[in-house]
Order: sequence, then structure tokens, then C-alpha cells
Amino acid sequence: MSKFTMEDLVNYAKKWGFVYQGSEIYGGLANTWDYGPLGVELKKNLKTAWWKTFIQQSPYNVGLDSSILLNPDTWKASGHIDGFSDPLLDCKACNTRHRADKLIEEHAEEEIEVDGWSEEKLFEYINQNNVVCPNCGALNYTDIRKFNLMFKTTQGVVDDSKSDIYLRPETAQGIFLNFKNIERSMRLKLPFGIGQIGKSFRNEITPGNFIFRTREFEQMELEFFCQPNTELKWFDYWKKTSKEFLLKQGLSEENLRLKDHKPEQLSHYSNATTDIEYKFPWGFDELWGIASRTDYDLKQHQTLSGQTLTYHDQETNERYLPYVIEPSLGVERLFLSVLLESYKEETLADGETRINMKLPAHLAPYKVAVFPLIKKYHREKAEEIFTFISDFFPTTYDESGNIGKRYRRQDAIGTPFVITIDDDGRDNDIFTVRDRDTMEQVKLKKADLVPYLIKKTRYQ
Ligand code: ATP
Repeated sequence: MSKFTMEDLVNYAKKWGFVYQGSEIYGGLANTWDYGPLGVELKKNLKTAWWKTFIQQSPYNVGLDSSILLNPDTWKASGHIDGFSDPLLDCKACNTRHRADKLIEEHAEEEIEVDGWSEEKLFEYINQNNVVCPNCGALNYTDIRKFNLMFKTTQGVVDDSKSDIYLRPETAQGIFLNFKNIERSMRLKLPFGIGQIGKSFRNEITPGNFIFRTREFEQMELEFFCQPNTELKWFDYWKKTSKEFLLKQGLSEENLRLKDHKPEQLSHYSNATTDIEYKFPWGFDELWGIASRTDYDLKQHQTLSGQTLTYHDQETNERYLPYVIEPSLGVERLFLSVLLESYKEETLADGETRINMKLPAHLAPYKVAVFPLIKKYHREKAEEIFTFISDFFPTTYDESGNIGKRYRRQDAIGTPFVITIDDDGRDNDIFTVRDRDTMEQVKLKKADLVPYLIKKTRYQ
């Protein structure tokens, strides 16, 4: 990774139209972010890559787009109403609010694993180890309280028909609710998976680190249903597939690590969990959670809904609840790691420096930029080529400033190819295509442009 700090990244993302502060003209709304013209393209490309790997090319999986608002019983069954909470405490000296587990993790000099600790244990550790308030330095906290992370709202317009309802804190439960619908309508046999991409909401106590932890975010989740006793084999399969996916998005082996949860850290419903962590500027942190969830969710929904959710195995003529593997990845965390990994500052042969946002071509917001070499002579042809190419690829057009500056701008936003129209282009339909990383140029006939660019930018 280059010496690219978070501050550099926030500035870069704003300057080049990737990410802006939310509600900025009103002074902002803390920890909300809007994705600009380039950010929305990068996000879309990440989601398309995930969908291609996990749905389109998978022999097992199908897709879904379920509602954000679900029957509130869903969250009773899933355990979110009773158990989806973080340990919160306040500093009595300065009234700032903290997450007890994160305070300890940030304070400890060596890595410390606090998942699964009771509130008493967290509180004792904080006081015995002098984990002072990061804001004011006092050691004077309230007791730890459980803070439920779900956003509650009401549905209905008339007061007496209003009911409490929640914004979903994960997309997964919408999948469990549709398990039987999908099994029947698609005539699926185990093992099979259902994936979806969508917004989730969590009233995080301490959002931050730019887009790493926000209250509104997107998840790409797969629930993979399999026969009991085969789940650990599939758990390994999805861990491997997920890691390979990350490498294909340009993340490097040395910035990734798999962290298995120890038995005492596992959630009560899980018999194996691994986090794929990325080396963010503040250290390794969770990018992707992969959990073997047993039959917990289906069992809970079956009990509370009174509906049979079992699977009829025609080979063995048995009925059972499938076991589930869940790889769950945040779009924004992937976005952040891809930008951090791809950002390079380079010194060129002539001593000039450039930012090269070395995004894998399939992720680049624009695949191609079209430039007339000299506006006065080459514009007409350049416009024709822009129209032709933009039918196939996200394309941008730039005719302002000298050609060197225009190249630098495209390098900085990660555009992998630039087509420059010069006399040869205008008169003979022969075009120069420049490669962002090697800066080498090839000459191509008009008919060869699209096949060349497809080959170079396709995600496979
Ligand atoms: P963390 O420990 O960082 O709070 P988590 O273990 O609660 O994360 P999961 O419930 O496993 O997260 O969610 C799956 C994935 O969704 C995470 O790995 C992450 O990529 C993403 N995610 C979860 N919470 C947030 C958030 N507040 N902001 C952005 N992404 C999130």
C-alpha cells in the first residue's frame, strides 16, 4: 500500500467526484456520504462483479431483491430485537458516548480479542487497565448498557393503526423469509444459495473511519443452504471463493488475512465463523464476515410463523431444515479497500509525477476516454468516436487543456484506456489507444477498437 492516509483518501474522493460528505450545504449530517458520478460507477461495478461471481456464474445460486421493511415478527424470530446490541457507555466527564469493546481494542497495545466478553468483564478491564476516555482522558464512565442497533420507525397514517417497524439491519432475513417460495418456484434441490444486494441500517454508536462504519450501508449477502453435516465443507468452499473474489478486485494477498473466531467467540447459533480482514490504514479490520449459521434462522422462523420451512430430500425421503453458510460483505468496505489498494503515486521518466488509480479495468468508472489531439482539427471525428464507443462502454470525452494534463486526469480517476484522435484518425480511421499503466500506445482500425477494449476490460 502507498503512504495514503485516510485524510488523503477523503480529499481525493471529494476532489475527483467519488464521495462527498452527506448534506454538506447544511453543515453535513454526521457520517453520511453521497457517492458522486465516479463513486456511483465504482460501486455499481463492484456489485456487478459480486453478482457475476456469486449469482450469474455460480452453478448453485439465484438472486433476490426483498423489502427493506419486513413484518416485525421477523426480528423477534431472528433475535435482533432481544440481542442485536452493542455495549455502550458514556464518559461522565465530557458526555461522549463509546462502545466498550472498541475502547479496549483501540487502547490495547497488542491485539486483543473481546468478542464474547460479558459486560462485567468489559467494565472490569476498562477500569483495571486505565482505558481512559479518548476524548478527555478521564476514567469516569457510566455502567455499560446494551444499545439496540436497529432503527425503529412507524408504519401507518392514523394514530391507532400505527405500528412499530424496523429498517432492516441486514439483508439476510429477507432471504430466509423467501426460502420456501424460491425453492418451490425455481424447483431447487440442495445445495443451493440465494443472494441479494441491498441497503441495511444500523444505529451504530461510533460510526467513523470515513465510509468504513456508517449507519446506512449496502450489503452483498449470500445464504447458502445445504444438508446438515455438509456445512463445514461448504464453509471452506465459500471462504476460498470469497478470498479469490477479493484478489480479483485487485486486493493483494499481504493486505488480507482470514481470522477464525475461537469457540468462545462464536455466536450461539454458529459452529464456525471467519472474518476476512483487510489492512486498513488503522490496521487489520473486518471486510467480510463468513458464518456457518446451522439451521438457527429457519428454525426460529418456522417456530414463530407456524409455517413449515423444512426441505423434503427426495433421495433419502427425509424432511429437515437445511444448514446455512452466510458470506456477508459490505459494499462500502470493499469500495474503501479497493481505492486504498489501487492508489499509486508514480514518478515518470521525465521527472513528472502522476496519480495512477490502478483500478482493475472492470472496476474503472470510465473504461475509455476520447480526446481530440487538437480541438480545432480533430473534434468532429472525436465526437463521432465518442458516440460509437459510448454505446459499448462508460466513456468520457475531454478536449480541454494540453494532452499531457488530460492524460493525468484520466490516470487519476483510473480510466484504463484513452483513444486520441489525430490526423491519422481523422483521415484514415486509424486510432491511438493508450494504456493507463504501461502508457504504451497501439494503433487500431475503427473496427478493431471495440473487440480490443472488450478483451481488455471484461471481468472474468
Ligand atoms: P463490525 O464488527 O465491524 O461492526 P459486524 O461483524 O457487525 O461488523 P456483520 O453483521 O457480520 O458485521 O455484517 C457483514 C458485513 O457488513 C461486514 O463485514 C461489513 O462489511 C458490513 N457492515 C456491517 N456493519 C457495517 C456498517 N455499520 N457500515 C458499513 N459496513 C458494515
